[in-house]
Amino acid sequence: MSGALAVDFALVIAGFIGMEAVTYVVHRFVMHGPLESLHRSHHRNAAAAFADKRPEPNDVFPAAFSLVVLAALWVGFNLSGFAWLVPLFVGVTVYGIVYTAIHDGIIHGRVAWMKRIDTRWTRSLTLAHRAHHRANSEPYGMLLPSLTMHERSVRNQVARSGSRPSQVPVDQ
Ligand SMILES: [Zn+2]
Ligand SMILES: [Zn+2]
Repeated sequence: MSGALAVDFALVIAGFIGMEAVTYVVHRFVMHGPLESLHRSHHRNAAAAFADKRPEPNDVFPAAFSLVVLAALWVGFNLSGFAWLVPLFVGVTVYGIVYTAIHDGIIHGRVAWMKRIDTRWTRSLTLAHRAHHRANSEPYGMLLPSLTMHERSVRNQVARSGSRPSQVPVDQ
């Protein structure tokens, strides 16, 4: 791998990993902070089938995140000295795709074939996110909820829940 390619690859990885931290901070301090009234619609309606869903206030957030990514990519492609933004935001975009697949497809079951995915990992992510929906508290992150949530409490929930979590609608 050439030096430049290695730097680009490192930037993609940094964008991906950094987004888990950004997600945590934005979700905790903005979406559950001053803009919580917009985010509440997601906590209320999360179980609704995707096809039945109409736009809701929480959609403001993914729309705003997309605009930030588009703006950063435009700057990266068009202004000299900012080309590094392109691989960084490729990593951010890949994170967004993975986040959407896990959060919307698997956890909230909005994509039929995705909601049937049932592994130890997806089960623990589902239980962790359901705990967030229920209590409006930790974990605010998505891919590594155990960083801010006691592993034990996730394991206890797994033990208590006899059924597959993906079959239980996440409404709360
Ligand atoms: Zn959710
Ligand atoms: Zn939330």
